[in-house]
Amino acid sequence: MADFAPILAWIDAQQPRMEALTTQWAAINSGSHNIVGLTRMADVLTDAFAILRHPVQRIALPPQNVIQSNGEFAARPLGPALFIKAHPHRTKRVLLGIHFDTVYPADSEFQKVQRGNGLELCGPGVADAKGGLAIMLIALQALEQSELAGSLGWDVLLNPDEEIGSPGSAALFLAAAQSKILGLLFEPALPDGSLVGARKGSGNFVFVVRGKAAHAGRDFHSGRSSTVALAQIIVALDQLNGRWPGATINIGRMAGGGALNIVPDLAIGRVNIRCQLPEHLPEMRRELHVIIEEINKKPGINVQLHGEFHAPPRIFDPAHATWFNRLAQCGTQLAIPIRWQDSGGACDGNRLSAGGLPTIDTLGPVGDGIHSSAERIDLTSLAERAKLTALLLLKIARGDF
Ligand SMILES: [Zn+2]
Repeated sequence: MADFAPILAWIDAQQPRMEALTTQWAAINSGSHNIVGLTRMADVLTDAFAILRHPVQRIALPPQNVIQSNGEFAARPLGPALFIKAHPHRTKRVLLGIHFDTVYPADSEFQKVQRGNGLELCGPGVADAKGGLAIMLIALQALEQSELAGSLGWDVLLNPDEEIGSPGSAALFLAAAQSKILGLLFEPALPDGSLVGARKGSGNFVFVVRGKAAHAGRDFHSGRSSTVALAQIIVALDQLNGRWPGATINIGRMAGGGALNIVPDLAIGRVNIRCQLPEHLPEMRRELHVIIEEINKKPGINVQLHGEFHAPPRIFDPAHATWFNRLAQCGTQLAIPIRWQDSGGACDGNRLSAGGLPTIDTLGPVGDGIHSSAERIDLTSLAERAKLTALLLLKIARGDF
């Protein structure tokens, strides 16, 4: 255990600081659409990451295109991203990233951060992903304080829009993935401490169905019902479940119609599709188009499909296995058992892996109850996962890997 022992002991001593940072950051509401809160998070993160002594750049993101309830597009603003490029002359480089938005909107009832039973911290985003921000910062500070500082180049990308599919930051991740050897993301580990190996891909799609309004009593037969057409689309979509192994189609939301005496002229269906294997994607896209072509044959009905697979599936290929095994070696040295399992969830790690960069994306704290008012972390996992990350970075810097 002599290997890097003083640095690892320094990280252990940072445990109270990591708890304080996580508490402070989780107390700032930064729901993906809370621009004021996201800007404030960007400010406090800029201050906190200044300790690494590399310039923190702020990058304005283009607005997100969303389809409103009237079926028309609207531009929705996004918060800023933060980017650091350290030791730019170094060709051996890693990319570290995590989001600072959460799923809790500004008016969420879940705002308070508090200690739970024993060594738990409960609060919005403590696991997903503000504890991960603290872990990343302390691990990087450990590297930069070591005698190996400067022998490994690194970029940090912190984004404000992951919980809504990274519409503005996906391109930044793909650009930052270029000429890196490894991607490290600080999403929470699974409740039993496992990391995530393979991940399903995910796509959000919106079906905008337009028909023709008419009086339901006087003129029913001249109307063209958008709700009936949407219902037919939905049934056809649901019947695709089971066609491709591991793929699922979830009809998340349907809306349409108004007064009961009007044949409705607008209906909107919002659908999430998950997919296990990249080779299924073209066929799945084709099937969606077959369904709308069929419905579009009905006179007076027009269906438009919007959306894409925003996160491709992540295959756990040999390059990923190599890096996960290296991390497990670091875990053995620290007496932290490192296991991994597959997940249906998608994150920015999907994009990095699909872009050709092997990525370990669950280096954040061990937590539970994410995306709910029961969100919490095991506080001891903060220093534990920071040591794990730091040891991996130090060994890469030293040339062990
Ligand atoms: Zn997350």
